[in-house]
Amino acid sequence: MRIADLIRPFQRVDDAPPQTLGRFIGWCLNGSWGMLWVAGLTSAAAGVMDVLTALLLGWVIDVTSTARPDTFWTDQVFLIASLFVFFMVLRPLIFGASAATNNVIVQPNLGPQVLGRLHRWTMGHSVRFFDDDFAGRIAQKQMQVSAAVTEIASEFINTICFALASLVGSVVLLVAIDWRIALLLLAWVLSYLAMIRWFMPRIRLRSKARANARSMLGGQVVDTITNIKTVKLFAHDAHEDRVALNAMAEFRERAVEFGYLSAWFRVALMTVGGAVPILLIGGTIWLWSLGQASTGDIAAAGAVSLRLSQMTGWVSFTLMAMYSSLGEVEDGMRTLTPPHELTDAPNATALVVTKGGIVFEDLTFTYGRVVGGVSNVSVTIAPGQKVGLVGASGAGKSTFVSLLLRLYDPSGGRVLIDGQSVAQVTQESLRRQIGMVTQDTSMFNRAARDNIRYGRPDASQAEVEDAAKKAEAHEFIQHLRDNNGRSGYDAFLGERGVKLSGGQRQRIALARTILKNAPILVLDEATSALDSEVEAAIQDALDIAMEGKTVLAIAHRLSTIARMDRIIVMDKGRIVEDGTHDSLLAAGGLYARYWNRQSGGFIGIMDAAE
Ligand code: ADP
Repeated sequence: MRIADLIRPFQRVDDAPPQTLGRFIGWCLNGSWGMLWVAGLTSAAAGVMDVLTALLLGWVIDVTSTARPDTFWTDQVFLIASLFVFFMVLRPLIFGASAATNNVIVQPNLGPQVLGRLHRWTMGHSVRFFDDDFAGRIAQKQMQVSAAVTEIASEFINTICFALASLVGSVVLLVAIDWRIALLLLAWVLSYLAMIRWFMPRIRLRSKARANARSMLGGQVVDTITNIKTVKLFAHDAHEDRVALNAMAEFRERAVEFGYLSAWFRVALMTVGGAVPILLIGGTIWLWSLGQASTGDIAAAGAVSLRLSQMTGWVSFTLMAMYSSLGEVEDGMRTLTPPHELTDAPNATALVVTKGGIVFEDLTFTYGRVVGGVSNVSVTIAPGQKVGLVGASGAGKSTFVSLLLRLYDPSGGRVLIDGQSVAQVTQESLRRQIGMVTQDTSMFNRAARDNIRYGRPDASQAEVEDAAKKAEAHEFIQHLRDNNGRSGYDAFLGERGVKLSGGQRQRIALARTILKNAPILVLDEATSALDSEVEAAIQDALDIAMEGKTVLAIAHRLSTIARMDRIIVMDKGRIVEDGTHDSLLAAGGLYARYWNRQSGGFIGIMDAAE
């Protein structure tokens, strides 16, 4: 076993993250306390080494001031051996142990531990959580929190434990020389803390202002670059340049303000730090002049004070960094840790689909608003029935389907699959039983094969290819090549699949769903991005994929609608018509109007909606 494995970063934590800073950090670190203690104690031991060095120096001076030079090397074997063991064995060992626990055990584990927990928690949020925020921002917050928590823990161990042990050791050493000197040191510590208290909030404020100005500047530049085509088309380079320069000027001002304060902080630090040797060396010399301290005591006090004076600098800057890390943790915590909106029921069972019958019972869901979504929708879909959902944009079709997948919980009514309420089964088992092809299917930036295999991770290459052939994707996949020279099924698809055309993405998505072979199939205008030739070929694949399954298809295309047993027409969140194509045409209602306005292979929903 490697010592790095003394912390197991990926243990499951099922508790929800607390929402107060201290307890949240505790949640992040839980499971690692043992090693954090070990790391803190070794670091403290290293801090004591510094004081021992001063002690040894005093001892050497005291001995040499009285010993006889000619017999020194034989008389003082113990002193010489002690020095050797201390500097060549003990000190390297303790510092080595401290470095190893912190750099090998604590640091490499904490980042993944915190990120792993946060990531798992974040993925458990409902779709609504992700709808309300930018994906990039969420990802960035996760990284930010894990880095900041690691930084806080590691700085606490490396600096605070070390410095505290040094300080306590120094006080003990000075008490051994004379308690009045120790008192001087304590008085100094209080004035140091007072200075820190005065500067910290001010530094934090200015550093926050600078960070804000920086991210505004970053946002401005990214916005311009993202929209560079528009900038060029409107010949607005000069305008964009000016806006960016303004943001830069603002950043510059904030940076200058921060710079002034840092400079003053540095001056104050050097002054307060400089007071340590004055107080301690001066005090011991005074005692020495009274005959109450030896020259060795002066040397020991001198060594301790120089070390403490140096330490004030790095301890202060570490405190500053920890302070701002705490701010980052708090900020990320607020974004990422709200309780999950959708959780499995406490006694949730796995969904068992025997036939595939679906019942929507008096469903209402309006996204927490007054209007929108669907209201009072009741439908019974027989096993194996193929249902087309038709309606103008905004009629509530996607909401309807989302409720079947339990991407949201309805505010009224329920959805049953083969008699089991979707709210009472595990979300995982529910979504396993439903295959879905959506309008804009995004792809992972992974190999084409892995994107298809996402439908069934244990599928063999032959099965993957078979599904791809059925979805008319095999042909173009063979000609794929990515920037790293991978080709065919090994080629990566680019971020979100940008390297593929819309039709190609849909064909891969279709292959993925064919491979999944779930008993219930949801098509969200699955063929919208296909040209008619490819579409004709795919429709055959779809027919095979739909065979024996219950199908719910949001449909605009005549060719899709024609394959359905039953059409449900939605309008303003309600079901307004329900029947076969022929019966609805005969009824002469909304569907008949849509149908009569068909053009280019689509029913005339756009016209009808206007
Ligand atoms: P369709 O799929 O028929 O185009 P939707 O189900 O997407 O219709 O939308 C139905 C209604 O719900 C619309 O009025 C829309 O504004 C509203 N809606 C859809 N998604 C959201 C959402 N994420 N948040 C708030 N309102 C939404």
